[in-house]
Amino acid sequence: PADSGLQSGRLIAPQAGGAPGVPMIAIDNVNKWYGDFQVLTNCSTAIVKGEVVVVCGPSGSGKSTLIKCVNALEPFQKGQITVDGTKVMDKATNLPKLRSRVGMVFQHFELFPHLSITENLTLAQRKVLRRPAEEAKKRGLDLLARVGLSAHASKYPGQLSGGQQQRVAIARALAMDPIVMLFDEPTSALDPEMVGEVLDVMVELARDGMTMMVVTHEMGFARKVADRVIFMDRGEIVEDATKDDFFGKPRSERAQQFLSKIL
Ligand code: ADP
Ligand code: MG
Repeated sequence: PADSGLQSGRLIAPQAGGAPGVPMIAIDNVNKWYGDFQVLTNCSTAIVKGEVVVVCGPSGSGKSTLIKCVNALEPFQKGQITVDGTKVMDKATNLPKLRSRVGMVFQHFELFPHLSITENLTLAQRKVLRRPAEEAKKRGLDLLARVGLSAHASKYPGQLSGGQQQRVAIARALAMDPIVMLFDEPTSALDPEMVGEVLDVMVELARDGMTMMVVTHEMGFARKVADRVIFMDRGEIVEDATKDDFFGKPRSERAQQFLSKIL
């Protein structure tokens, strides 16, 4: 689209993993407590390769907690999560390696403010993946071009708009060649006029075949690219439906009420 300056070409590297019958993300009866407070109750779902799943629900329903459990940013007490067959809560699992394959984009862009855009794009490639500097730079700048920001390579995050910073954050995550991408309300801290340019990148990524789990209330995005919609309330997955079923008529009253408020 013209407004975001997106260039054509694939945003993702050919994907590893995703063996037949093995979900890219399997969430199996996950329960989590913060002290006495149960934040997740019997959460189960599976996301297969190339699938785009939107997670929505009221504030405080556990969406961020669930997504953080997927790359072990939060521990959980009961149940299991695997990413491409690897148990995230297993002592034997190499967490830095796992996290390097699971791209994560948060509400706040979290670029390193003291590093240039190029340095932001290359740091983890060099330190975690041990890519040679030239290769890391090439991959970073290639992705920067794909999100329409080539002109900003030597700037610092503070010189970019919120929408531009979030596009850099997405490019930075993609530079690690993730096998799945997790998004937690990536546009909710942005000024309204910048939401579209970030969603455009996410739509392109979805159409490129990335496996994505996206917490968002942008139902336009969900309608465009989601395969399924998960609705959470009070720590439970209340609804896990195809997009058409969810928007056609959610089964639960709670989801119907939620939709009537945000649509
Ligand atoms: P959502 O992303 O859907 O808004 P969260 O996953 O952030 O929900 O939070 C779910 C619930 O867990 C909320 O009631 C929140 O207050 C609580 N919570 C989140 N993080 C913590 C924490 N570190 N300690 C205690 N309670 C927490
Ligand atoms: Mg949240």
